[in-house]
Amino acid sequence: MTVRVRIAPSPTGNLHIGTARTAVFNWLFARHHGGTFVLRIEDTDLERSKPEFTNNIMEGLKWLGLNWDEGPFFQSQRLELYGQKIQELLDKGLAYRAYDTPEELDAMREAQKSTSEAPGYDNRHRNLTAEQQAAYEAEGRTAVIRFKIESDREISWNDLVHGTMTWKGQDLGGDMVIARAASATSIGQPLYNFVVVVDDIDMAISHVIRGEDHIANTPKQILLYEALGVPVPEFGHTPLILNEQGAKLSKRDGVTSIADFQKMGYVAPGLVNYMTLLGWSPPDSTQEIFILEDAAQHFTFDRVNKAGAKFDWDKLTWLNSQYLHPMPVGELTDLLIPYWQADYEFDWTGDRPWLEQVTALIGASLTRLDDAVAMTRYLFVADAPINEEGAKKLQQEGCADVIKGIAAAIPNYSPLTETNAPDLIKQVAKDLGRKEGQLKPILRVAFTGETKGPDLIQSWLLLNHRGWDGDRLQAALKIAK
Ligand code: GLU
Repeated sequence: MTVRVRIAPSPTGNLHIGTARTAVFNWLFARHHGGTFVLRIEDTDLERSKPEFTNNIMEGLKWLGLNWDEGPFFQSQRLELYGQKIQELLDKGLAYRAYDTPEELDAMREAQKSTSEAPGYDNRHRNLTAEQQAAYEAEGRTAVIRFKIESDREISWNDLVHGTMTWKGQDLGGDMVIARAASATSIGQPLYNFVVVVDDIDMAISHVIRGEDHIANTPKQILLYEALGVPVPEFGHTPLILNEQGAKLSKRDGVTSIADFQKMGYVAPGLVNYMTLLGWSPPDSTQEIFILEDAAQHFTFDRVNKAGAKFDWDKLTWLNSQYLHPMPVGELTDLLIPYWQADYEFDWTGDRPWLEQVTALIGASLTRLDDAVAMTRYLFVADAPINEEGAKKLQQEGCADVIKGIAAAIPNYSPLTETNAPDLIKQVAKDLGRKEGQLKPILRVAFTGETKGPDLIQSWLLLNHRGWDGDRLQAALKIAK
């Protein structure tokens, strides 16, 4: 089987999670069959299409690792072909010019409503005479081109996800508009359902894999394939992505574009792994962590769910952490720098080894890259505050003595190291007649401003490297008892 699939986004917004997940399934299917994955930019809506969205879509696909084999093809550059194909349908008598005004169409709809008829065009301009057409033209009316849909037709296809789907011609809303702003001499501006078919034919697409929201377009498109005299491809409609409440995931749910997820600190392999599981499950359902290439080996449509896929933030975040934790320190540091840079002043080129130590300290606790910002505030902000819980801790009797004792001992332990820092704590504990375990929580608050956090000695050493540990002790002393 020669497999050729495509992703066909409209550049009217940033790359959406739904489009990206459809791209994932297309990519997996293409790779599984050694086929070809085509990128087509559906920019026929000139008002809403923007080059920055095209860039965002292409960057997003690349970032996710969904590399395409052909394209990008731009529909806006293919208008000549669409014109030829519309002319072909006109010549065959399968399409015609209709001259109804918006007011006439509204009146028709109102009449249908009052008699509880299904809404749709009643095909009233199907058989206009040349004289009638000329009269409408003379009135200055613009035309649309309509493709004939016979109401007694039955259209069936075997959907890769949903099985047999059957539609009746009478439910398709009457003869369908395939171009607007036409005239007696021009075919005007071709519309989505038509250009998609022309392109899928021209690009020899074997399997049309797209979101379930396109199901209602498929019977119309199948009729167009027939009219253009070519075989109909396979169709597979992938389940929608739903929010926690079971409604379609939308802008109201906060983040929906891939760029948003990226900003939030999800890494591409984690996000793409999660998207693969949104509606598909591998044959070994215990296997949750895989890269695209592995998933491609096992990807078949009989394991794609019909039901909508609920978006599970916890699972996404957990998967993300599975990619962050084993990441080499250098690579993780590169990914964290932009997050730190956005919030903190620091000489970003000057102290790479220190930055890598910071990464090593927190790497295992990260679930998202942006977690790093709050976790390391005490290392980037000279006067990082002590939080409420920390302040409460310092108000317990005896904290001031501990802090004074540590501050006094530091000069004798210079340079401070991984080995002598614990000795210093031990010695001060002994001098104060207290247990080491009692000193550490106090020091943690003094150094980091918090009662919980990563390894205390490492945190101290990193702070000491910046020359800030003494100041922190003095600041803590101001509120300690
Ligand atoms: N351009 C359409 C969209 O962005 C996709 C068309 C298709 O896949 O057939 O929803």
